[in-house]
Formats: sequence, structure tokens, C-alpha cells
Amino acid sequence: MNQRNNHRLVLFPLPLQGHINPMLQLGQILHARGFSITILHTNFNALDPSSHPHFAFRSIADGLDQSEASLSDIPGIVSLLNARCVGPFEECMREMVSSPGGDAVPIACLISDSLFSFTCGVAERLKVRALMLRTSGATSLYVFTICPVLKEKGYIPIQSSRLQEAVKEFPPLLVGDIPALDSKDPGMIFRLMENMIKAIKNSSGVILNTFEELEHANLALLRDDLSVPVFPIGPFHKCCMTSSSSSLLAEDKSCISWLDEQSPKSVIYVSFGSLAATSEAEILEIALGLAYSEQPFLWVVRPGSVCDPEWLEKSPSRFLEALEGRGKIVKWAPQKEVLAHPAVGAFWTHNGWNSTLESISEGVPMLCMPRFAEQGVNARYVSDVWRVGVHLNGGLERENIDRAIKRLLVEREGEEMREGALALKEKASVCVKQDGSSCQALDALVSHILSFK
Ligand code: UDP
Repeated sequence: MNQRNNHRLVLFPLPLQGHINPMLQLGQILHARGFSITILHTNFNALDPSSHPHFAFRSIADGLDQSEASLSDIPGIVSLLNARCVGPFEECMREMVSSPGGDAVPIACLISDSLFSFTCGVAERLKVRALMLRTSGATSLYVFTICPVLKEKGYIPIQSSRLQEAVKEFPPLLVGDIPALDSKDPGMIFRLMENMIKAIKNSSGVILNTFEELEHANLALLRDDLSVPVFPIGPFHKCCMTSSSSSLLAEDKSCISWLDEQSPKSVIYVSFGSLAATSEAEILEIALGLAYSEQPFLWVVRPGSVCDPEWLEKSPSRFLEALEGRGKIVKWAPQKEVLAHPAVGAFWTHNGWNSTLESISEGVPMLCMPRFAEQGVNARYVSDVWRVGVHLNGGLERENIDRAIKRLLVEREGEEMREGALALKEKASVCVKQDGSSCQALDALVSHILSFK
């Protein structure tokens, strides 16, 4: 283990899987650079300290009751957490600052998820420096910074008749790619993002899970706009080779031995992340599309993602039996291991940023099916800028699914995309090595933190 540098970092992840993973990876990266790490976490989606013995953990009461802690309204829950956590967070931070405890490693700074926009104000009151972690990419963050312009030009609120129209101010974005969320209050996503951008601008810098070579142009735009230091030090999971998992659900490792039996680059891996829901009609189309494609598949059907919980207990085995072993369904997969497996030839994804970056890091071309938030922006860059994936054009219907899978796994087009994806994989692996862009950005981040008085 590296020598400790007598500086403590307090990390405060938003308690959603796609935010917890990168924050804990960041903790590993900075721990390896000598920092002591304390993770503050909410009771909602509480973390398991035993999986991360090098970190100290403190929980704060978020005051959410069972009925409020529902993942069906993400902006609602994020805004509730922002309102309820201020007091307990401030109390906990104040206690750590004034009586740091036995080991007495002083706090060098707070690193907060940027969606916890209240934390900067608390840090300022306690005279603690604050950095923000934005867990998505630079491009989507930049799109959020230009939302006021997009509103002024009439693209927002998004009209269903204009989804295929180009956003002239930001090619190759289409109107349908502009971030949106299903919520009781459709404007809430923009208010949350506005608060997030204000918080970033008031912070001592923003850390991004991306790399310079992937998003160079939009990183430059972001640096101009934010006027605080920007540290693209990703892909995080490639910087910290750790075996500890931060999954909230148990990973079903049986899929790895199943993959071992499949031919190289033959399997389509299907997963829509930790939040997206799938209706019964959609499940049926996905199942039939996978069956029609005649390709092997590994499909994650997360409990809670399907309306009828009984479906998961009964239907998959009948469906899989009919396919005579050509497919496997799990409730949660060790995704990074799956994507790195030689049998996986394509990833049908919702284009959450972690999934997108994990796929890029392993050179796996994508079938893009964005569901909400900034996933549309990520998917547009995958298909039109990095050219390592195709959109599920024509909608979620069995014939389209069959067609898209064959394009990726059987046809020449897929082969070309795989070549492009492997070139990006190489860049993602070089940037985290010594003198690589992310490694240099990490050195700069460490110096920045050590310069805080
Ligand atoms: N993930 C996983 N197993 C699964 C599905 C997803 O470990 O079966 C992980 C995935 O590797 C990623 C995270 O869950 O790190 C999902 O984050 P992402 O940003 O892709 O999507 P979100 O869940 O936030 O919509």
C-alpha cells in the first residue's frame, strides 16, 4: 500500500448505482495516491462498508420514508434528497471538521456528486474546499450549460413532432436527443441541472469520468464556459484495478461460465442499467427480437425493471428452453467483466454514461436505445461522432431488433464498427498509463488538492 499523505478526502456520492460506482472508483484512485478516504452516504441505498475496508464510512439520515424512496421519479428523488440532506450533511461535516476523531487526518476537501448542489454552500460555511464529481460525460454536461439557449431558440420544451429535427446550434444533436425525464414535473430536470451548473461554477473544480481524446472539443467548450479547473481523469475503472464491487444488487457470476462456452464475438449483451423500466409489451418485443436474430444473447432483466415481478420468476425459463441454450437471462451481471469477455460481440444499451464508457473501454460496438436524461446525447455521439454503434431506428419492434443485431454481429458494417471501437479502446487504455492524458490530469488534480490551505 502507498504511503498516506496526511490529507483526508470526504466523498459524498448520490445514492444511485450509476453515481455510486464512479465515486467509489474515484475513492480507490485517490486512495492509491495516498489520501485517506471517508465516504458519506445516505440511508437510502446505503453502502456496504465491508466491501471497501480501506475507506471510512459515515451515514447521514436522509429522512426519506419507504413511500418516498421510489426510483420511478428520479428528478423527484434527487430533489427530495437535496432538500432533506442539507441539515444532516452539514451536522456531520461540522463534526468531522471540529473533532476529526482518533486518526485525526485533517480534511483537505470535499468531493461531492454535482447533483448534490447544496454541498458547495455547506462547504463554504465550514471553510472546506469543495470539488464536484460529474458522473456523466463532458458533452452532455456542455449540453446542459447551453439549455438556456436551446430554450430561447424554442427547442425546449421538446415537441414530439420535432424529434428528428437537427439542433443547428449543436450538431449532430437532434431535438429528440435533448435530455428529458419522465417526471410529475417535466421542468424539474432543467432546474436540477441549472442548480448543478451553478454549484460547479462555485466549486474549486470539476472531475469528469472521461478522457481528453474522447471528448476533446467539448471539454474545451466546457472549460471556457465553467471557468473552474476541469479534470478528465477517466475511464475511472481502468485507473483502479479493484476487485471490490459497489453493486447494490448481487452479481450473478454464472453468466461468465456461460460466456466461456460461446464463440468469440458472437454474443449480444443486453442491459438497460439500474433505473430504466421496461413495459410488458417491450419485454415481449425484446424477447422475440432476440429470438429472431438467431444470435446468442446475455440479457439482464433487473427486478424492478419489469412491471410484473412474476414474469421474472416464470417466463424466462420457458422462453430460454425454447431457444435450447442460445440465451441466458440474469437479474444483475458483473458488467465490466462481461464486456471484457472475448465472447461478447455487441452491447445493446440504454447509453447510461458508465455503460457507454465501459463498452468503449473494451472495444465493444453498441446498439443504442437511450431512455432518458443525457442518454440521448451519449447515444448520438456513439453513432454519429465516434461511429461505434447504431441506433435502434424504427422503434422497439421485433423486426427492427433482429435487423439491428444482425447489422452489428453478422454484417460487414458491424465489423467496421468493431475496428473503430478497438481503436477507441486503445486510446482509453493509453490515456491512463504514465504520461497519458488522464494520468496527467490526475497528477494535476492531486497537486490542486494539495495546494488547498
Ligand atoms: N451494471 C452492472 N450490472 C448490470 C447492469 C449494470 O454492474 O447488470 C453497472 C454498470 O456496469 C454501470 C452501472 O451499473 O457501472 C450503470 O450505470 P449507467 O450510467 O450505465 O446507467 P444507470 O444505471 O445510471 O442508468
